[in-house]
Amino acid sequence: MAAGGRSSADTAGDAAQAVIAAYRADNPSTRVKEWQREITHPSGNPKFKEFQAERLKEWESTEFAKYRLDDPQITALVAEVIRPVLRLYGREDSFKLLIIDHPAPIAMNDSAVILMFSTGMLERAMSDDELLGHTAHEVGHDLFWRRTAQARQALELHGTEAAGAAMTERQAYDELLKIELECDAFAAVTLAAMGRNPLAPARSHEAFAREYPDYARPDLPPVALRVKVIEGVVPAAAAHTAPQTSEAFTKLKALLEARKRR
Ligand SMILES: [Zn+2]
Repeated sequence: MAAGGRSSADTAGDAAQAVIAAYRADNPSTRVKEWQREITHPSGNPKFKEFQAERLKEWESTEFAKYRLDDPQITALVAEVIRPVLRLYGREDSFKLLIIDHPAPIAMNDSAVILMFSTGMLERAMSDDELLGHTAHEVGHDLFWRRTAQARQALELHGTEAAGAAMTERQAYDELLKIELECDAFAAVTLAAMGRNPLAPARSHEAFAREYPDYARPDLPPVALRVKVIEGVVPAAAAHTAPQTSEAFTKLKALLEARKRR
């Protein structure tokens, strides 16, 4: 064997294998029932409104705020398209939905109370299933918020005196990367349970990698691994489900297209 440590590609590959083994579901509905029990319900918190208002205020000072697209019609249509996933996990009243006018495909869950999509992601989507998959991925993050907070804290402390032996910088990035793959697995199994095509979001991950070949972050898994996980956790038959396009989705696409031509 060659000398030297294992590369981060090896570690990511191992993480993908571990995630596939842990999430592979012959019966996706059974897994979804477990997650419905496990996942937190922020809207049940008596301080929910205050908490959400605080997070929104913070969001106003992020780099995204200047791109806010305040279009009630587009926002309402996105809400309608993604509702089946939110309903499945009792999240219909949990998220403030924000749309930003930005060409990069972005979906983000902030603190389980803000859900953000970019026009770049909406414009690229070819089916409801694709947006449902990205939504499920973001909802999945709420299952792992404790682990995410620990890893982020380790990264913040890195290089300071407070940096303890709890987690090295490398371990923290490995953990965040594994969480991303777990959210992909969560989304794929969720879509399979809903009778939707779990591979639809994989298509957009691949498109993203083609368009942004130099985009790399130490906490994001390579696209090939994401696709491998998505394909690896669902029953083979699920891949053959035809992706759906609802009336709301078609209307949304037409509005986005009209905006671009203006
Ligand atoms: Zn994610």
